[in-house]
Amino acid sequence: MAQGRRVSAPRQASIIGAGLAGSLLAILLARRGWEVDVYERRGDPRLSGYAGGRSINLALAERGLHALRQAEADGPVLAHAVMMRGRMVHPLGGTPQLQRYGRDDSEVIWSVSRGELNTSLIDCAESAGARLHFERGLVAVDFERKVAEYHGDGHAHERTFTALLGCDGAGSTLRAEMAKRAELGERTEWLGHGYKELEIPPAADGGFRIEPNALHIWPRGRYMCIALPNDERNFTVTLFMALHDEGHGDPDFDDVDSAAKAVALFERDFPDTLPLIPALARDYEANPVGTLGTLYLDRWHLGGDAVLLGDAAHAMVPFHGQGMNCAFEDCVSLAEHMDREPDLSAAFAAFEAERMRDALAIQKMALDNYIEMRDLVDDPDFLLQRELEQALQARHPGRFVPHYAMVTFMRLPYSLALERSDVQRGILVEATRGLESLDAVDWAAADAMVEARLPPLPALANPA
Ligand SMILES: Cc1cc2nc3c(=O)[nH]c(=O)nc-3n(C[C@H](O)[C@H](O)[C@H](O)COP(=O)(O)OP(=O)(O)OC[C@H]3O[C@@H](n4cnc5c(N)ncnc54)[C@H](O)[C@@H]3O)c2cc1C
Repeated sequence: MAQGRRVSAPRQASIIGAGLAGSLLAILLARRGWEVDVYERRGDPRLSGYAGGRSINLALAERGLHALRQAEADGPVLAHAVMMRGRMVHPLGGTPQLQRYGRDDSEVIWSVSRGELNTSLIDCAESAGARLHFERGLVAVDFERKVAEYHGDGHAHERTFTALLGCDGAGSTLRAEMAKRAELGERTEWLGHGYKELEIPPAADGGFRIEPNALHIWPRGRYMCIALPNDERNFTVTLFMALHDEGHGDPDFDDVDSAAKAVALFERDFPDTLPLIPALARDYEANPVGTLGTLYLDRWHLGGDAVLLGDAAHAMVPFHGQGMNCAFEDCVSLAEHMDREPDLSAAFAAFEAERMRDALAIQKMALDNYIEMRDLVDDPDFLLQRELEQALQARHPGRFVPHYAMVTFMRLPYSLALERSDVQRGILVEATRGLESLDAVDWAAADAMVEARLPPLPALANPA
């Protein structure tokens, strides 16, 4: 072998999990000529129906869409997506108000069904040449022998591997197996709040019962309801609130533990939704309470043997609607590093070095956004700052870009979006302090702050 040349691993990879990240990664690698096997614990959703167990629909934004375009899977997904132009905020006793997310319909997000999205990606992965093995849940890994053990059909199945790519979600078995070999620095911070899903069915004439092209929010301080539209003309409603009493006199899931108490809560706090959710009592009793947390790891890979991505590496709370979008960005990044770098250990290290700081940034922004959604969206100071944000965007294009736009409509690194958002928030607070409207803003001072504190955004920030 020529001096300095690295040993090329065979271009073969075993993906654990055929969820959102696993099936997209399979497409991206198979299209690049990799031999890909995907092992999924559940049955084939195309035969047995989708058994998701988590949110029924998801907000897809530019980062996720870009990844789907790379996999040429955007067409089938968008065909069933519902456009959401902004937040429709429902104050208690007030009139709902639409707060646009972007400047126009080129800056929107899309509500997609998790089941349909996952099934389309599985179809595309198979067409791209990946081999999918359903009812094969990873249970153990022997890293010495490079053998993984899967359970399914009532049997254990051993398979050799070159490298394991962990897309098996927040409760990752691969992560647990890796942690037996090396300290990953794993810790989970539980939010202490959970969620329950309910439904607004279609109207009697088959149409939507409320504005379809919006993400609806009923903010109530420390808790809230949201609703996302579905292609079938219904909405998935999610109630987020504390799991246990937090001492603020607010409701919590421990206390609201029956259909009757749920109806009483909705009568008091979400009265306009009562006629929209006819099966509230039944669904509240039947549907589980989901828990929410943030998963942090100090390392995501074990040499060239295994690497984690998506929720398995950095699960986050869902309030920025970015968990899947971030997982899809991971897939593009990992596939590129694996393709470029013949030494898998170096490829995984480069992936981790590129993505870890961004994962940490979006995890933080997702936590911050819970406060914004449940409490601030109908606060006068927040609304004034939002107005100023839009004005400064128009005065300083390419320099002052609203926080939501940087995260949602652009692909600049999350860590850069966080850094600039912090600076921008400072400017907004300073420029509106003590004011009730934009009329009294000192524009010269605000412009000077923008020019001094915010360099123009790098070209990479522009959406492709
Ligand atoms: C209430 C809620 C709302 C959300 N809303 C949004 C949103 O609007 N936008 C957004 O971008 N994100 C959202 N998310 C986050 C998003 O759901 C996740 O980030 C995304 O699903 C991560 O994809 P993944 O492939 O890493 O994991 P998963 O989607 O969890 O997939 C993991 C897969 O691995 C399989 N698996 C598990 N264990 C094994 C095993 N041992 N062997 C083999 N297979 C296994 C599972 O069956 C599953 O198919 C939300 C999350 C929640 C909880």
